[in-house]
Amino acid sequence: MPKRLDDAQELSSGVKREIACVLASAHVQSAIEGFRSQESQLREWQMEMARIPAPPFGEGERAQWLAQRFCELGLENVHEDSVGNVLGLRKGTTEQCVTVSAHIDTVFPAGTPLNIRREGSRLYGPGISDNGAGVTALLGIAAALKSAQISHELSVLFIGNVGEEGEGDLRGMRHIFSNPQLKDLISYSLVVDGAGSDTVVSEALGSRRFEVIVRGPGGHSWSDYGTANPIPVLARAIQAFSQTTVPTSPKTTFNIGVIQGGTSVNSIPESASMRVDIRSASTAEIEKLETALRNSISSAADEELRMLEKRGPERKAPPGLSFEVIGIGDRPAGELNPNARILEVIRAVDADLGNVAAIQRASTDANIPLSQGREAVSIGGGGNGGGAHTLQEWFDCEGRDLGLKRILITLLVLAGTAN
Ligand SMILES: [Zn+2]
Repeated sequence: MPKRLDDAQELSSGVKREIACVLASAHVQSAIEGFRSQESQLREWQMEMARIPAPPFGEGERAQWLAQRFCELGLENVHEDSVGNVLGLRKGTTEQCVTVSAHIDTVFPAGTPLNIRREGSRLYGPGISDNGAGVTALLGIAAALKSAQISHELSVLFIGNVGEEGEGDLRGMRHIFSNPQLKDLISYSLVVDGAGSDTVVSEALGSRRFEVIVRGPGGHSWSDYGTANPIPVLARAIQAFSQTTVPTSPKTTFNIGVIQGGTSVNSIPESASMRVDIRSASTAEIEKLETALRNSISSAADEELRMLEKRGPERKAPPGLSFEVIGIGDRPAGELNPNARILEVIRAVDADLGNVAAIQRASTDANIPLSQGREAVSIGGGGNGGGAHTLQEWFDCEGRDLGLKRILITLLVLAGTAN
């Protein structure tokens, strides 16, 4: 069960005062009042963006669209970095910054029909919420800071990043946090992913994914009988690996999601493969499972060779058996320090807004800063949404202003207002 924020320890009076101080600014009040009247513009942006395909590794056109919006909203130094992330800066009085990021990629392959449409307050279509809601929230916040002329101490770096979904494997965020000049300027990271205002992801669920391929010489089922066969090797490895026990706390899971191999019933296959997903809140548990996987496959291969030797003279070809374990995904685990300021601030903002939010563990762009021990959370862009990763995806604009208010106040407490 997710822990409820309101069950946690007392909020410090210091943060409450900081929130009151941010809210006392006439500029901030005018930004907050503007969110409702901004809604039709936000909706237009959201639909316009969702109509631009952004499959994994194909975010270029959407990135260009976002860079134009960043320029129109007065952000400085708007540019695309070498992996395709779009960055735009709103300068504060110092170079240190808070990042507000949203992934721009979708899970939908190129060619997916994007029938983006609106019925009343509801928007429909693939990617409209994940992450149409997040990117639109970024634009809403940038627009509000501009029109209400809010000044802040820390700079605010807006990022539309690539590669959050699936095989993108968090490459956009990984790039940001591997840049030595940039990463040390980042004090806090607010990741905006999907709809809603009722969650705070402060625990990064780690995962590793593997493709295991077993190869052999292959041959005819009758005339080459005795040749090493990759399918029984893979089957033995699956049998052994499936027996591995995992702890319930920290929750750790594994899944064999795909198996493939062989060409016909009377051929000894040349290869067989499986895809394995391993997840845990603990990197150590992920590593144990990876070792178990590697051991299962190497024992299974040894066993096949022993069996072939027993068949002795019947064996026609040399075994020629090999296997490979290829990493196809690696999202690091991590957890926010329970005393982290970013968590204290968002909890206090929620208390102030009378908003109830649950702390969650998930795999998001925040995994990267969290795994480096940095202050980061992932939250929603307001409104309501559902059907993520399906063609029936929807977003309801009702309540978006609450989400934007929550992001704005959190951002300004973290950054410090200067007017
Ligand atoms: Zn997402």
